[in-house]
Amino acid sequence: MSILTKIFGDPNQKFLKKLDPIIEKINSLESHFEKFSLEDFPKQTKEFKKRLQEGKTLDDLLPEAFALVREATKRTLKMRHFDVQLIGGIVLHQGKIAEMKTGEGKTLVATLPAYLNSLTGKGVHLVTVNDYLAKRDTNWMGPIYNLLGVSVACINHEKSYLFKPSSSDRDEITIEMENLIPVSRPEAYQADIVYGTNNEFGFDYLKNNLIHRPEEMIQRDYNFAIIDEIDSILIDEARTPLIISSPDSESTRLYKTFSQIVRRLTENDDYNVDEKMRAVTLTEQGIKRVEKTLGFNIYNEDGIKYVHHLEKALQAKVLFKKDRDYIVKNGEVIIVDEFTGRLMPGRRFSEGLHQAIEAKENVEIKKESKTLASITLQNYFRMYKKLSGMTGTAYTSAEEFSKVYNLDVVVIPTNKPMIRVDLPDSIYRTEKGKFQALVREIKKRHEKGQPLLVGTISIEKNEYLSALLKREGITHEVLNAKNHEREAQIIAQAGRKKAVTIATNMAGRGIDIVLGGHPSSFGSKEEWENAHQEVVKLGGLFIIGSERHESRRIDDQLRGRSGRQGDPGASQFFVSLEDKLMRVFAPDKIKRMMLVLKIPEDMPIENKMISRAIENAQGKVEGFNFDVRKHLLEYDDVVNKQRKNIYAWRKKILQQEIDPSSEYLRLSQELVQEIIDLHCQGPADKWNLEEIAEAINSFFNLSKNIHSELIEYSETDLIQKYIFGLVEAKFKQEITNSKEELKNIFLSVIDYFWMEHLEEMDYLKESVRLRAYGQKDPLAEYRYEGQTMFKKLLQEIRNSIIKTTTNYVDQKL
Ligand code: ADP
Ligand code: MG
Repeated sequence: MSILTKIFGDPNQKFLKKLDPIIEKINSLESHFEKFSLEDFPKQTKEFKKRLQEGKTLDDLLPEAFALVREATKRTLKMRHFDVQLIGGIVLHQGKIAEMKTGEGKTLVATLPAYLNSLTGKGVHLVTVNDYLAKRDTNWMGPIYNLLGVSVACINHEKSYLFKPSSSDRDEITIEMENLIPVSRPEAYQADIVYGTNNEFGFDYLKNNLIHRPEEMIQRDYNFAIIDEIDSILIDEARTPLIISSPDSESTRLYKTFSQIVRRLTENDDYNVDEKMRAVTLTEQGIKRVEKTLGFNIYNEDGIKYVHHLEKALQAKVLFKKDRDYIVKNGEVIIVDEFTGRLMPGRRFSEGLHQAIEAKENVEIKKESKTLASITLQNYFRMYKKLSGMTGTAYTSAEEFSKVYNLDVVVIPTNKPMIRVDLPDSIYRTEKGKFQALVREIKKRHEKGQPLLVGTISIEKNEYLSALLKREGITHEVLNAKNHEREAQIIAQAGRKKAVTIATNMAGRGIDIVLGGHPSSFGSKEEWENAHQEVVKLGGLFIIGSERHESRRIDDQLRGRSGRQGDPGASQFFVSLEDKLMRVFAPDKIKRMMLVLKIPEDMPIENKMISRAIENAQGKVEGFNFDVRKHLLEYDDVVNKQRKNIYAWRKKILQQEIDPSSEYLRLSQELVQEIIDLHCQGPADKWNLEEIAEAINSFFNLSKNIHSELIEYSETDLIQKYIFGLVEAKFKQEITNSKEELKNIFLSVIDYFWMEHLEEMDYLKESVRLRAYGQKDPLAEYRYEGQTMFKKLLQEIRNSIIKTTTNYVDQKL
C-alpha cells in the first residue's frame, strides 16, 4: 500500500462507495417493475425517450433504466443482475473501464449501459474479439433487448444479422443462432445496438469513406462503444493498423507506357514549360497526340489515373534532370537535395514522380501494393463520443489506457469471494527439464480426475506439448484460436472431469468454463449437479502456464479462467531459464548462478531472486511494447488529422452538404489568385503577364488571348476579377447543369490523390527514420514535412479537379 493510499484511502474504494446510493435506488425500484406486464416494457422505453426529449439526461434515467433491464432479464433469461454487475454497468456508462474477473458475467453487464445509451437513438456499438462472440452475444442477449423494444444486430465478416426471436421463452444459452436473420450491412447498422469485432467496425469505417453514392453509406454515428476484452483489442492488437489495399502491378506498366509516349512530345508544340511554377502543361495539340497514341480519351472521370501518369511522365522528362535533381546509382534513382546538394538515399519523390523517373531512366520501378485506406485501432476508437470497456485484466495497463485513450480503470469487486490459489512459479534449468516436469504434473492430476487447462504462448509449443502428452497416452484437446466457433464448444467442456485442454492465449477467450461441464450437455439438472460437485471436490480447474508471457496481463488472463464465481481452483506457471523471456531479459548474474548450482534439469528450484527477475523482465518488455505502440500512434496522429480533414470534406461533397459547383468556383478563385500572386511580384512593369495568361489558359482553356487584355490592368485585384469573370462565364452554367458529374470528378480526384498521399507518408516515415542517425528528431521532421506534403496534396487535388472539369466541359461544348 502506498503512503498516499494509507492517508487518503484507496481511491478505487472511495469511487465505489459513491455509487452505493444509486445501487440502492435501483434495488428499491425492483418491486415496481416486477408488476409490469410484457407489453409495459416497450411502453416504458418510449416513455424514457420522451423524457429525454423533454430535457432529462441519461444520468437522470439511469436508476430506472437499469432496474427495467434487470427485470427484463429476469423475465427472458431467468437471470438477475447482481449488484456488482450494476456497478459495472454504471462504470461503463460513465465511459470508463470496468475490470471484472472472468465469469463475473460481463456479457450481461453490457446490456445495462447499452440499453440506456440506445435511448438517444444514435446507436451503441458492442465490440467483441471475434465474429463468433459477436453472434453469440447478439443471440444470447437479444431476448432482453427485444422485450425492451430496442433493435439489436450483429455484423460478421461475411454476413450481418438482425435479432428476430423465433420463440421468446428460453433460459439456456443456445449454441444455434436460430434467432438471427441475415440482413444487409447498412440495415444492421441501423439497429439501436450493434455487436461486431473491432476489425469489422474499423474496416467498415474505411469503406464508408471510399463510396461514391450516399445510399452506399454503411455506418452512421460514432456515438458510444463498449469494448469487451478491451485490453486484448486496444493493447494486444493495437500494434498493426487496419489497411485496405490492393496489389498494384498495373501502375508499374503505366509508368513505362507513358514514359515512352512523352519521349516523342516536343516543347512549345505539345507542351509549355513554366520554370517558375515548376510546371509543365500539355497544349491542345499535345493532348490530341497522346490520346491518339493511346486510342482513347483520358480527360474524363475514369481517366484521372492516366492523366496523372501522363503528367508525372512529362514532369520527369522536362523538369527533372539527371545529375542535377537526382542521380542513378546501382539501378536506383537517388534524390539530390536541391538546397544542399546532398544525396538522399531512401527518400522518394512524391505522387508517383519517382516511379516516372525510374521509367524514364529505364531502371526497375518499385512495385507497390497500393494502400486504399488505413487507420490504427487507437484512432478508430478515439472517434467515438464516449468509449468504455471491460476485461478481467486492465489494472496492470492502467497507465496506457489513461495516457492513450483517456480511460480510467475501476476495479469491480467479485460477486463471491475469489478462492483460487495461485501457486509460486516452478523454475527449471532447461526447457526440456521443464516440460518433463510439466507432463509429470499433468499426469498426476489427470489420474485423480482433476480437469486441466494448459496455456502456451505459441502454436508451436502447443503442438510440442501435445506430442508429449500423446506419448504418455493422455487424451486431450488442442486449441489454436483458428476456428472460434468449434473451439468455443470444446472450451465450454474444459471443466469436465479428466478433461485436458491445451490452448494458446486467445483460444476460446470469452467462453465460460463451468466446473463439471456445460449444463446443456447433461440429461438433467441433477446429473449436472453431481458432476459439478465431483469436480469441486477434486479442487476445481487447474491452470498450468507452460511459459511466462511477455506481459503479466496475459498471464493473469490465463489464471482467470479458473476460480469463477467463487469456484475452487489453482494456477501455476512453469518456467525455465531457456525461455525467451529469461534468455533475453534476465540478468547474467542469475544465469551464472544457475550454472554453478548443479541441479538436475527437471528438478524445480525455488528462488526469490529468480522470481523477481521474471517479474522485472516482464516489466521491461511491457514498457518496451508500450513505447512501440505509443510510437505508432504518434506517427499515425499526423496522418489522422489529415485523414479527418479529407474525409470530412469528402463526406460533405458526397452528401451534397457542399454544392459541387460553388466548391468548384471557390477552388478556381483560389488557383487564379495563386497564379497572379506568383507572377505579379514587385512593380507592375515587372509583372509577367504572359506567364499568367499561359498558366490560366492551360488550366481553364479559355480559348481567348487574355494576355492583350491583361496589359490594361495595373492592379492585381482587377486582374483577378477580370480572369475570374471569364472563368465564371465559361463554366458556371455548364457545371450547374452537371452537378452529379462534377461531384464524381471531385470524389475520384480526392480519392486518387489521397491514396497516393498515404503512400508518400509511408515513404516519409521510413526516410525520417534513416535520418534519425543524424541529430534530428524523426517525429518532428515527420510532422513538419507531413504538413508540407499535405498542403501540396490539397493543391494537387484542386488543380486536378480544375483541369478535369475543363476537359469535361470542353468535350460537352
Ligand atoms: P465474463 O464475460 O465476465 O467472463 P460471461 O458473460 O461469459 O462472463 O458469463 C459467465 C457466466 O455467468 C455465464 O454462464 C452466465 O450465464 C453467468 N451469469 C452471468 N451473470 C449472471 C447472473 N446475474 N446470474 C446468474 N448467472 C449469471
Ligand atoms: Mg466475456
